[in-house]
Amino acid sequence: MNREGLLIVVSGPSGAGKGTICKELLSRNEDIHLSVSATTRKPRQGEVDGINYHFISKEKFENMIDNDEFLEWAKVYDNFYGTPKQAVLDTLSKGQNVLLEIDIQGAMSVKDRYPTGVFVFILPPSLDELKNRIVKRGTETEADINKRFGSAIFEIEKIENYHYFIMNKDVDKSTSELENIINAEKNKVCRY
Ligand code: 5GP
Repeated sequence: MNREGLLIVVSGPSGAGKGTICKELLSRNEDIHLSVSATTRKPRQGEVDGINYHFISKEKFENMIDNDEFLEWAKVYDNFYGTPKQAVLDTLSKGQNVLLEIDIQGAMSVKDRYPTGVFVFILPPSLDELKNRIVKRGTETEADINKRFGSAIFEIEKIENYHYFIMNKDVDKSTSELENIINAEKNKVCRY
């Protein structure tokens, strides 16, 4: 059977642990390719341009919107984030699988265009635990922490738009659950 790769879309509130799960997934599966997003957010300590994100100016981001270079884009917590389109389409057309770790707005616009993708929502074990994790991460200001926590409640309500959810109590177990979902989807005879 010769067909396109699988588009895997992972979302969840800040602090749910989706970044850690995605990193673990990629380290275990060389056949899954991460789409590197563009953002106008400033790099955090340790983040590398071209690896974590393409860190670009607002002007460049707007140019990319005008030139239709994004598969989707969204404003998240006062910054812009977008998925560069061409790289994703090229990878999928080669039959390779692509992972997008994006917010809910972006995921919903991708779902409209690519309903054959698999959409997975990562939940924290509880809201208390979510707040602890955002605070413990220590990368955000207090105002940012409150903004991210406030959005989390609104975001969790959108879970019904996803195909699967994973409650992330343990990264190793959650990653295995995600692998199981992906393997089942890869082996589906019909993706519609
Ligand atoms: P952070 O600033 O913590 O790296 O990311 C903030 C939020 O933006 C996260 O929910 C992350 O999944 C989301 N995000 C990252 N890249 C993209 C993207 O290309 N498009 C959209 N819509 N959201 C993104």
